[in-house]
Amino acid sequence: MTKPRPAPFLIADHPALDFLNTTASPWGKQIEWLSNGSDLLDWLECAGMINTETLRDLRSREDFDSLDEIAQQARELREWFRQFVSHHAGHRIVSSAITELESLNDLLARDVAFLQIEADGTHNNKVSELVCKKHRRWNQPQYLLQPLAEAICECVCNVDFALVRRCENPSCTLWFYDTTKSHIRRWCSMSVCGNRSKASAYRARTKQMLSGESATRKVLKKSD
Ligand SMILES: [Zn+2]
Repeated sequence: MTKPRPAPFLIADHPALDFLNTTASPWGKQIEWLSNGSDLLDWLECAGMINTETLRDLRSREDFDSLDEIAQQARELREWFRQFVSHHAGHRIVSSAITELESLNDLLARDVAFLQIEADGTHNNKVSELVCKKHRRWNQPQYLLQPLAEAICECVCNVDFALVRRCENPSCTLWFYDTTKSHIRRWCSMSVCGNRSKASAYRARTKQMLSGESATRKVLKKSD
């Protein structure tokens, strides 16, 4: 049985980095959000990578157990991407990185996605616009890796890796894409690490002030 745990962190400002953050230890203890097939479906739903109808269908399948194997492959993909991000974060990616991306390209080549034109929304009971939407045939459990591979592909090609960084809390492993205007983001989130860091800096300052005061008192005592 899966242990109780918080909802997944979707704080990275990019789905591929959110995927990287599906294992983390924000409070010192390692949390795994992709420990089995059911977890993988839950996370894909949470991240908006799969629709409810497809999920219902996948959960009712007789070969549901094979999803655990796919979750294992998703964790392997995640750890491969962690190495890639750790290597390139802080710098713009250059074309020579293509030599590291062969396995990702192999995975992308397995996709079975197709486009459909759909009516999106209504206005005064009239269709307001037509939109192009991507769909997948989910008839094989391994296709669950495709939206993850696609998010990584988009991240590698379109994200400025100079702005990809890890939370400044040394014990935190969460990654994010700094999309703030002045590029000053420091924490995964204020509630998880920002406030904690502020509190420990405040404690350190208070301690320093108090030790300064007692040193002054000692000096004054000596000169009495
Ligand atoms: Zn953090």
